[in-house]
Amino acid sequence: MNILVIRFAQLIESYFFLMKILTIKTFLMSFIDFASPRRCEICGVYLGESERQHEFICEDCFDKFPPPIPSELIFDRIKKFYPGEKIIDNAYSLFPATEKSDIMELIHSMKYRGFSRIGKELGFELGKLINVNPNKIYDLIIPVPIHHARLRERGFNQSELISNGIANALDIPTGFDIIKRARYTQTQTQLTAQERKKNVEDVFVPKKVSINLSGKNLLLVDDVFTTGSTLYHCAKCLKEMGASQIDTATLVFVGS
Ligand SMILES: [Zn+2]
Repeated sequence: MNILVIRFAQLIESYFFLMKILTIKTFLMSFIDFASPRRCEICGVYLGESERQHEFICEDCFDKFPPPIPSELIFDRIKKFYPGEKIIDNAYSLFPATEKSDIMELIHSMKYRGFSRIGKELGFELGKLINVNPNKIYDLIIPVPIHHARLRERGFNQSELISNGIANALDIPTGFDIIKRARYTQTQTQLTAQERKKNVEDVFVPKKVSINLSGKNLLLVDDVFTTGSTLYHCAKCLKEMGASQIDTATLVFVGS
């Protein structure tokens, strides 16, 4: 029995040690991101102080990204996987892409190399795109939440970074404490479409039962749109909390 207790204590100790290492790693990555000379994340060219418009990509590479796709194409994808009730009202995405596109390199650098400024800057670009459509006034910008264990692993939620960029462009408040993930889910990247749907079903819940979103127009934000499963289930939770209309905004729309 005592051995079991000791083993358990050792396990807990190892866990906290690992968490400490991960926190230090995140801090170091952010510091390197802040202090190192800037190079284009795509072609590697040095970005001089004076001419650079973005902190992480040269203008040549930025201009090569394809233009945004119409909302209807994003909706076709949502309808394909969720033909029933309309949960999402409108959808924006900054770049169409494939898994091998250069833009995915940027998303990878943001998520796994701690280049947080990529999220804020591309979020600002996404905000400018949404601003072209002045019909909708949003009450809140809500990022898709990540599980607290993943937050500890990564050190930040990339959807919050993007949301901050959009908020700067649109001058709308963000709501980071509205919903949460009830359980830790496997990353969607390696899953089939059906597995993705199952993986995120009922995973989003209100952060507090007292939150009421009656009559609110929301902009729901994530980094990548693939099948739309994560956004759909997140939006479903927000509608159950009373939200009136929900539009989605993603940096990338991954085509088939
Ligand atoms: Zn470049």
